[in-house]
Amino acid sequence: MSARRTALITGSTSGIGYGIAAEFARKDFNVVINGLGDAAEIEEKRQALSKLGQGEVHFDGANMLAPDEIAALVSGAEQRFGSVDVVIPNAGIQHVEKIDSFPVAKWDAIIGINLTSAFHLIRAALPGMKKRQHGRIIAMASAHALVASPYKSAYVAAKHGLLGLVKTVALEAAESGITANAICPGYVETPLVRDQIADTAKARGMSEEEVVQKVILEAQPTKQFVQVEQIAALALFLASDAAAQITGSAQVIDGGWTAH
Ligand code: NAD
Repeated sequence: MSARRTALITGSTSGIGYGIAAEFARKDFNVVINGLGDAAEIEEKRQALSKLGQGEVHFDGANMLAPDEIAALVSGAEQRFGSVDVVIPNAGIQHVEKIDSFPVAKWDAIIGINLTSAFHLIRAALPGMKKRQHGRIIAMASAHALVASPYKSAYVAAKHGLLGLVKTVALEAAESGITANAICPGYVETPLVRDQIADTAKARGMSEEEVVQKVILEAQPTKQFVQVEQIAALALFLASDAAAQITGSAQVIDGGWTAH
């Protein structure tokens, strides 16, 4: 047990989640990382994170498609560290294909990982937060929580749903010292985006370079990718006392994408 605050980030063995884990570790939080991948590589990442600050970094491999594993992820963290103060549902997958042939199993997996897992995570974390009258829920949504793009039916549906979930939780927990917000990034260059460049090229009949220029950076007026570190800094701010009155909000960080 320790008085140190604890942040739990799902899908943090890679990309944005890993960047957020690093930012919280640097600020001496205890950090629970989670995700799929090679055990030895994850252990290397865990060790690297644990060298960044004074807190402890623990890995839990809970599958975001397994509600009982998500509940155990939260209760295990509470037992280990005494509290879970910041919960960041971040795990997510993507599949890009026109709806006529969108694989049903992909729809189910995207809704399960990108939306339903956040429900299970928040449901498990709220009682402890209410008891302590303090908590921060920071869901990794997307610009696609606010606008749509073709060929991303499951992802857009899941992210719109995630924002609705966050707003509802914000209202239910408003008098308990708990805030719930969504971060809505535009395109960030992570493995998730690198993989969809190829799929989008196929779906739209373009070269991969054309997809980067005409689809991805076309959507972002700044013509630049959002950086993982910029999202991590925003998450850290939302976790701070200064952000106590920010709740139920969609925090866009999208290079101007949703402005037009
Ligand atoms: P990523 O592929 O780099 O990381 C995804 C993480 O989720 C990995 O750690 C992976 O192991 C984990 N994961 C996948 N399936 C899981 C499962 N069943 N159980 C547990 N963990 C699982 O992707 P990223 O780009 O860092 O995306 C992170 C989040 O940010 C996602 O929710 C994504 O939708 C969102 N997002 C990404 C972008 C972008 O441009 N990259 C933009 C907006 C929103």
